[in-house]
Amino acid sequence: MSKRREQVCRQCRVEKTKLLLKGDKCLSNRCPVERRAYAPGEHGKMRRRILGYAIQLREKQKLKRYYGMTEKQFRLFFERAERRKGVTGENLLSMLERRLDNVVTLMGFSRSRVHARQLIGHGHFLVNDHKVSIPSYEVDAGDVIRFRTRTAQTAGIKELVESKKTKTVPGWIEVDRADFQGRIKSLPTRTDVTLPVEEHLVVELYSK
Ligand code: SF4
Repeated sequence: MSKRREQVCRQCRVEKTKLLLKGDKCLSNRCPVERRAYAPGEHGKMRRRILGYAIQLREKQKLKRYYGMTEKQFRLFFERAERRKGVTGENLLSMLERRLDNVVTLMGFSRSRVHARQLIGHGHFLVNDHKVSIPSYEVDAGDVIRFRTRTAQTAGIKELVESKKTKTVPGWIEVDRADFQGRIKSLPTRTDVTLPVEEHLVVELYSK
């Protein structure tokens, strides 16, 4: 395995959570977390009690890595979540789920979030028939996301979509694989977020 690939999986072992950063491999028994549940390094097997700030930081890092964001991008998302009505932590999770790169991944139109970001950045997706090349674009209820016609005709994309035909899609999304498109049925709520995370700890961290 290449060093870069090992480092990606290392993030999951450090967080002791499957961050699903590597597409199909994450769901197979080739996932290192399945084979070895402890963190890498000499002291990886030691049980450590982490308290206070460290716990808050870990929850934030977990979210940031899962959605593949930089610290600055994540902080901006948080500040926007804070300005919205409602519970900040829940707003944050909903906004993260609604990122176009996440939605494309959930629809099974990419191998991973990293792959989704590449495809979106190269202009392969339309939202309501308009090209959107910003991975952090926030989708809304009723939006239709589809591959550009030319992209959908390529063998690689046909193969990819076919390989994901048994993928389970969350209830707030519907997918029409035959038409290479999907629709946002409703906005995601807290219960739609499957990543085990305590978002209130992230709010506490940033409220210091
Ligand atoms: Fe690697 Fe995916 Fe397993 Fe994480 S969940 S350790 S990224 S294979």
